[in-house]
Amino acid sequence: MALAEETKRITAQFDYTDDDVNKGVKEFLRQMSEGLERDGTSLSQIPTYVTGVPNGTEKGLYLAVDLGGTNFRVCSIHLNGDTTFNLTYSKVAIPKELMVAKQASDLFSFLAKQIELFLRKHHEDHFEAHIRRRQTVSTPEGYRDEQIFRLGFTFSFPVQQYGINKGTLMRWTKGFDIPDAVGKDVCALLQQEIDRLRLPVKVAALVNDTVGTLMARSYTSPGKTSTLLGAIFGTGTNGAYVEKVSNIKKPIEGDYDKSTGLMVINTEWGSFDNQMNILPNTSYDIELDQKSVNPGIQMFEKRVSGMFLGEIVRLVIVDMLKNPKISLFRDDNSSQNDWKSTTTIAPESGLFKQWGLDSSLMSIAAADNTPDYSSIRQELEKQLQIYAASLEDALAFKDVAYAVGRRAARLSAVALGAIVLQSGKLNDKTDEPIDIGVDGSLVEHYPFFRNMIYEALAAIEGIGPEGAKRIRIGIAKDGSGVGAALIALVAANME
Ligand code: ADP
Repeated sequence: MALAEETKRITAQFDYTDDDVNKGVKEFLRQMSEGLERDGTSLSQIPTYVTGVPNGTEKGLYLAVDLGGTNFRVCSIHLNGDTTFNLTYSKVAIPKELMVAKQASDLFSFLAKQIELFLRKHHEDHFEAHIRRRQTVSTPEGYRDEQIFRLGFTFSFPVQQYGINKGTLMRWTKGFDIPDAVGKDVCALLQQEIDRLRLPVKVAALVNDTVGTLMARSYTSPGKTSTLLGAIFGTGTNGAYVEKVSNIKKPIEGDYDKSTGLMVINTEWGSFDNQMNILPNTSYDIELDQKSVNPGIQMFEKRVSGMFLGEIVRLVIVDMLKNPKISLFRDDNSSQNDWKSTTTIAPESGLFKQWGLDSSLMSIAAADNTPDYSSIRQELEKQLQIYAASLEDALAFKDVAYAVGRRAARLSAVALGAIVLQSGKLNDKTDEPIDIGVDGSLVEHYPFFRNMIYEALAAIEGIGPEGAKRIRIGIAKDGSGVGAALIALVAANME
């Protein structure tokens, strides 16, 4: 059997037709409503207590901190009120011993100390003025009245949020393990340590990175349009959008500003259709899921995001290598029987290891339209020690990568399209754009990812080519910086 023919047969399994897209949208809408009605559904639809999005005219100086993994980032953001901002930031690695400290205060006092160092370095003027004033007051509440900074706290661990600046840590992930902090309000933990240092800072908002993306885009979007939806397509995928409070049937505990009638919802769409009603499911998807640390969970994410796409491609390629009837990366001089030894691939290649193929290689493959696929062949050698790939080999790799990437883009359109339909904005009698902010390496760097999304959006009933033209998808950078600052601003306005 010819390689090209077999590649075609396999890549056809990743076709996600217009009909599939429409079925996906219907199911996404159904699961969205279900999530707005009750807890414990596959789309969590978490109320964020953020009740409006900026329009670019906001002004002021805010602080933002980001604790997400290996580093702690502190930044100050000056919002200029004309969709622009100036950002100053510093980054410090979290000492390993603090990630597994005994007391929560060990970690949080370190974080507060970094905030102090940052203020001293970059905002000495405000800091000194505050030091002088604080000599006249004696309680933390006293300083708070004097506070200069509202702070947005991006905390990328699972939290149960019950107010704009209240949320309890459910569990640690990513190598952190401080049992003392579990079940406690992480904003209060940080505030306590800030107060101990008598800093002029109030932790005003607990920020989810997807909500930050939405806010950052809404502030910077051209024409001062309010953004409907912020989405991340990076290591993982998730989206947050503006919902009418009247559509949220489940109880919203805690206080929020009721005047806007709106609330940003964190969909947690990575777990869309965990029950597998409509998601495509090739043998490669099944294998990836079964060998993952969380089988049956994050099923949408496992077909869409950067962390998983490379692995799907890897599983396909390995499957093709094992097929004796086709010749892919084949070493014609080999007389061995074992399938690995008959290839031109080094035994230690990432191709033979779980997660060994980074999805950035897919972008290189998709972008290479040179007649001899020179960059694909070069990168196959550099990243995966695949030597002497032929033109046919490179083309087969490119086709597989393209099929997996295209399916991911069309699945992404399901989520985006469903939320556009849910918003009802297409029925407005305006031609104002429906703005969507996106962030993440996949959507930024995978060639034509956005074009493939648009193509699928145009095929959605209720959107169509005309509706798709109204949808504007733009890159939103720095959700955990300017986005977090904007949430702190929204929160400050509620005080
Ligand atoms: P994060 O989501 O962790 O904040 P990124 O948005 O940079 O960070 O996403 C990282 C993910 O994107 C990784 O899974 C990586 O494999 C993937 N990735 C990085 N570069 C590219 C690229 N050029 N094309 C496609 N995927 C990429």
